Amino acid sequence: VNIKRILGGLGLVILLLGGAAYHFLFGYVVVEHIEGPITLLQRQNILDQIGANIVVFESLEETIVVDTQLAPLSSSTRSRVETVSKAPITKVIVTHWHPDHSGGISAFSSDTDVIAHQNVLHRLSSPQQGFGLTRPGSQHEFAARSASGLPNKTVETQLQFPVGKTIVELVHFPKAHTDGDLAVFFRDSEIVATGDLIWPKSFPFVDVHNGGSISGLESALREIIAQSKPAYRFIPGHGATLTFDEVVDYLEMLSQTRFWVESQLDEGKSVEQVKEMGLPVKWTQWASPLVPSVVWIQMIHDSRTMPTQAVVSK
Ligand SMILES: [Zn+2]
Repeated sequence: VNIKRILGGLGLVILLLGGAAYHFLFGYVVVEHIEGPITLLQRQNILDQIGANIVVFESLEETIVVDTQLAPLSSSTRSRVETVSKAPITKVIVTHWHPDHSGGISAFSSDTDVIAHQNVLHRLSSPQQGFGLTRPGSQHEFAARSASGLPNKTVETQLQFPVGKTIVELVHFPKAHTDGDLAVFFRDSEIVATGDLIWPKSFPFVDVHNGGSISGLESALREIIAQSKPAYRFIPGHGATLTFDEVVDYLEMLSQTRFWVESQLDEGKSVEQVKEMGLPVKWTQWASPLVPSVVWIQMIHDSRTMPTQAVVSK
């Protein structure tokens, strides 16, 4: 019996299993070139996308990154961005505070401008609670972050800056998916990175417990559509890009389902009764594991009744 060979074989099996387990847990990165200087990075395992989309904009002189992935992936996130774009990373834009978008800030903050809305800085500087972020009914506690995990530049309503020959525009939409959402307009490329303001082909998760609002989200989308052209493409916070028409359809679904649920509630039905009735079937195709129809109905109810939460200032 060749012990060395058996041990070697065993080692190989363990290595392969380890590799498979790693890929199952953390996935592999899919790189999609969207348009000229813009690349989309997604991490996927065999089941699903892991974390959020990362958008990379590359000019000859500098690289701009939108969103930073989950914290445990932060160092590999940065190195992956650096293999896509050789120019130095000068700005990282964080679309909102949720950990799948803001978790990797510390990989960039020591040598890069990390830009977010001021409410993102306020939220990440203090303990936060997440409700339903990963599955219906889930609850998470997030500790206040130390300085390296925080944005080092904030936006109040709008910010524009040149990158190479183009201008990048950041626009804040109050009380939408959260209370600190930024959309990023790359007008020369006819691309808008919207973070979680847009969810492709599904009911959105709206963080009504943390300053989000469905009617506010509708206003945000009306504004984004008004500021866009039919040729534009939209990169959401998760999943595949959308066309202008798909964003229009999505907004229509939001306002029609909200109108329908609110009408039922106004007729005197309880939210439980509306859930039991269920949405009219033409909208049920928008249901997803994160936001099934009953969760969407509850969210519409909560969005209207939830007291607006004041953001805790530092
Ligand atoms: Zn989010």
